[in-house]
Amino acid sequence: MKVNQAEFIISAVAPSQYPDDGLSEIALAGRSNVGKSSLINRLLNRKSLARTSQRPGKTQTLNYYKINDAFYFVDVPGYGYAKVSKSEKQAWAKMLETFFTTSKQLKAVVQIVDLRHPPSKEDIQMYHYLKYFDRPTIVVATKADKISKGKYEKHKKVIKTDLQMDKEDAIILFSSQSGYGKDQLWRAINSYI
Ligand code: GDP
Repeated sequence: MKVNQAEFIISAVAPSQYPDDGLSEIALAGRSNVGKSSLINRLLNRKSLARTSQRPGKTQTLNYYKINDAFYFVDVPGYGYAKVSKSEKQAWAKMLETFFTTSKQLKAVVQIVDLRHPPSKEDIQMYHYLKYFDRPTIVVATKADKISKGKYEKHKKVIKTDLQMDKEDAIILFSSQSGYGKDQLWRAINSYI
């Protein structure tokens, strides 16, 4: 995918703010600090379009980025940040539920996990949540540059097993640092838009 244009459109909290121009949407979700902003910036060849959050978990909004005037990336606020209060967690869950139940243009969700570690409890919950809402999911295991290639298959298998991944869902190894997996991820995203 050649990204000619990538533009921040809106931080939305309520459906009335969601864009309604009928363009396809691809959401990106992951726990705080997993490397979601870095992945978005790498995919879009931008240094800091998606902001790496100062306080993880703080941005409780859905951030829409319009790509090539053709589709949206929807950056879902990170989960699993310990210092978030119970009411903030509830607000986050409500916002997500509203999004997943009302968004008609959402074609797939990129769920980002850390290749180095088994998925967290929240990662597993999120994946099952997406399956409950019948959302096609592309699992991306990022920070691949931090382990040796010899360990890739073993770590990949742990993630697939722990998430109890659907056979139809792809898992892609990625590195925002090196760009590893970028073409493969774009191909997977393209197949949904
Ligand atoms: P977010 O909270 O999920 O948006 O995470 P960030 O994109 O802010 O990344 C969190 C930290 O991980 C930052 O220090 C990044 O530089 C680092 N990071 C993110 N992706 C990678 C990666 O693929 N490789 C390496 N080595 N570091 C990464």
